[in-house]
Formats: sequence, structure tokens, C-alpha cells
Amino acid sequence: MKFLNKILLWTVIIMAVAFGLSGYLFVDSVFRTSLEREVGKALDDSSILQFAFETAALNIPTKYNVLQDAAVEQIGSKLESSGQGSGRFLRLSNEEKKVLYASVGFPEDTSLLQQILENTRTWQVIPLGEHYYIHTGIMINTLDRNLYLETLEDVTEVFEERTQGFAVYRRVTLAMLLISTVVMFLICTWLTKPIRLLAQATRKMAAGDYSYRASQVSSDELGQLTMDFNSMANVLEGTIGELKEEVRAREDFIAAFAHELKTPLTAIIGYADLLRSRKLDEEKHFLSSNYIYTEGKRLENMSLRLLDIIVTKRERVELQPVETKIFSTYLEDMYAEHRQQELRFSFQEGTVWAEVNLLKSVLLNLVDNACKASREGGLVKVSGRKAAEGYCFQVEDQGVGIPQEELQKVTEAFYMVDKSRSRSRNGAGLGLALCAEILRLHGSELQIRSQVGQGTCISFVVPDRQEGNGVKEA
Ligand code: ATP
Ligand code: MG
Repeated sequence: MKFLNKILLWTVIIMAVAFGLSGYLFVDSVFRTSLEREVGKALDDSSILQFAFETAALNIPTKYNVLQDAAVEQIGSKLESSGQGSGRFLRLSNEEKKVLYASVGFPEDTSLLQQILENTRTWQVIPLGEHYYIHTGIMINTLDRNLYLETLEDVTEVFEERTQGFAVYRRVTLAMLLISTVVMFLICTWLTKPIRLLAQATRKMAAGDYSYRASQVSSDELGQLTMDFNSMANVLEGTIGELKEEVRAREDFIAAFAHELKTPLTAIIGYADLLRSRKLDEEKHFLSSNYIYTEGKRLENMSLRLLDIIVTKRERVELQPVETKIFSTYLEDMYAEHRQQELRFSFQEGTVWAEVNLLKSVLLNLVDNACKASREGGLVKVSGRKAAEGYCFQVEDQGVGIPQEELQKVTEAFYMVDKSRSRSRNGAGLGLALCAEILRLHGSELQIRSQVGQGTCISFVVPDRQEGNGVKEA
């Protein structure tokens, strides 16, 4: 059953019980008051009759001062006819509770008669046909006789009023229930609107529409719930987007990896086949073996780089304060014999929080890239200086440059701007991806500025750290 219907049903049940019960209690209390009033009247009448009987008995001439049964009958008949309208209903009985006189139609039941005691007024309500009566009983002591006087007072009207009261209340209750059901339906529909909107949003999201948001229609707890739901949906959408992006990046990586494997393998297989199927002269034999060797080397280089990236991703590095002089000395030693380009090193003295070997690898990759991009005799400047947030390393060349639209992509694994040019220089497109991973561990990233035909400037800042705060999770 719907939540709205449940609220509606329970409200209607509670209202029906409340209306019914309050109506019953009200009509019943009015009835009891009227009945009490009628009982009082009937008892008063009975006392008046008792007095009238005693007065009449004193006025009747009696033998030996004893009231005869015939005289009782005579007084009873007189008292009966002296009543207003259709007269009174009364019954007179003697000491043995034997009826001496009774109005026509007076019930024969004597249960009340048996209960009458001296000086007490007894009463009960009895139904007779379609009528209700108050049946009273009282004792009369006159002229040495103890007689019993019973009367009947018609109170049918009080009972009819009660029946009418119930009928009116039933109709009022029904009308009120009908009106309140309609009103409650409108109120419940309005109150449960945020729930319906939330349910709709949940269904949309479950069906894959992560951008759908529930509209907020109130500022109460349900409005707050809608806001919280939407915030959760924002986070979910972001996370799902990131996951999709990651999956896409992985798929691209695998596709590129497969492609990069295929090229050297095709060359290796081709030349190996040539060597085994034909007898080649010495020069061709050397060339073929050399291709197999260089392509094999390229594969080895690629697998080592990949391994580096994977290890770096998982690594937990211990950052140490390192003198920047170490890096300049290292690079100068590495490129001491390098003659194709002119290399200029200038490092300001300072300390950086780093893992020495990983940072050396970054600088080596950047200088290697700069040399590969530069023409014969081109200038490559490698420098280091203190910056506001840490220590800034920079590698600048005057080489071929990178187009603006490619700047974002060069740090992706296997990405090469000019594939044939990079491959001819033994590149696999993994160097910058590795650099980015290493710098991430150092809390830094690559900044690349470049202009095609004029050169490239790649820099990064290793941030300053507090002593004893040098552990970085991958
Ligand atoms: P690897 O470093 O794995 O041997 P690679 O040098 O080709 O191969 P990356 O270092 O990742 O790969 O560089 C990616 C691509 O970015 C290069 O192929 C090149 O096209 C471009 N690139 C990088 N540095 C420069 C630079 N200084 N000038 C011009 N292009 C560059
Ligand atoms: Mg490289």
C-alpha cells in the first residue's frame, strides 16, 4: 500500500473512532441527565400521590377505624382519574403484597413491589411495548395499614430523543468523515510530494541518469533530506565520472601498449625470419641482426620504464632533505661526454625534500627529451632556483616544441607527438608519464610551456616540508 494511502487510512480510522466515541458519549450524557430529571419528577409525583392517598383515607368514614380494601380501591380509582390527560397508571397492594387496585394495562410484574421497603422510594425503568416507563414504588402507612403504591411515568420521549440524537450524530460523523478525508487527502498529497520526487530521482539514477536531481519543494526535514540526497548524487556522479575516466585511460593504455609491442615485434620477427630462411651476405646479415638487437633493446627499455611506473604507483617514498648540488653534479657527470647539444647547468644552492634517485630520474628524462627535440648543436638550459613555495627545477630547450593542443596529453603513457621521430630516437612515450608519477609522490607536478619551432620549457616545484613530515603514500 502507498505511504499516502496508509496515512489517509489511519487518519480516517482515528477520526471515525474519535467522532463516533465523542458523539456516543455526548448523546448518552444528555440522555442520562434527562432520565435523571424524569426519575426525580416520577418520584416527586409518587410522594404527592402518597400524601393524597393518606389525606383521602382520613376523609373516608371507616368501621373500627380500619381502612377497608374496598375503600383502598375507591381511593385508587379516584387518584387514577385525577391525573392530567389520560390519567395516571398506579397500583395499590396490601401488606401481603396482594394487588388491591391496578390501572388498566399496569404490568403484572411484581419484582419492584417485592423490593419496596419502609421509608424508601424505589424505581426502575421498564419497557412496555414500544414505550418506556419509570416504575416507582413507595409504602403508605395510614390507619394502621401498610399499603404499597406503585406508579408508572411515561418516558418514551427521552428514549426517542436519544435514538434521534444517535441518528443525527451518525449523519454528522459521516459528513465530517467525508470532508476530512478529502482535506486529509490534499494535505497528505502535499506533504508526501518531496518523497515522490525523491523516489523519482532514485529511479532515474538507478536507470543510469546520474545527472538527474530531485527538486526541493520544502525546507523541513524532507527538504533537508532532498538536499542531502542531491549532495550525495553530486559526489556519486563525480566518483562515477572519475571511475569512467580511469577505465577509459586504462583501456587507452592497454591499446597503446599492445600497439607499441606490435611494432618492434613485427620488425624482430621479420628480420629473424629473413636470417633463418636465406643465406645473406655479411653486410645484410649484420644489418638484420642489428635491427633485431635495437628493436629488442627498445622492448627492453619499454618494459623497464613500465615497471618503473607500476612500482612508482605502488611505492611509499621516504622523503629526505637533499642538497640540490647533488643533482647538478649528477647531470654534469652524465652529460660530460654529450656533444650533440650544448648543455648549460645553473643550480642555486638549496635543499629539497625528495627521494634522490627518483628525482634524478625525472631530471634525466626531461634533459633526454630536450636533447631529442633539439637540433644538432642546440642549447639546453637546466636550472634550479628557490621559489616561494619550494625549490623550482627547469629544463629549457630551443627544439621542435609541442603544439598547444598536445600539451595535456604528453604525460599520458605511450603518447608521442611525432611517433616516427620519437621511435627513431628509441622513445616509447613513457618518460613523462613516469615523471608525472614520481612528482605526484613529491606533491608536485609538471608545468609545460612550449611553442612549436621555438622550444619548450618544462619546470616543477618541489614543495618545502617540515622536518619529520617526509613520508608520502603513493
Ligand atoms: P621515452 O621517454 O619513453 O623514451 P619519449 O621521450 O618519446 O619516450 P616522453 O618522454 O613521455 O616519451 O615524451 C612524450 C612525447 O612528448 C615525446 O614523444 C615528444 O613527442 C614530446 N616531448 C617531450 N618533451 C619534449 C620536448 N622537450 N620538446 C618537444 N617535444 C617533447
Ligand atoms: Mg622521454
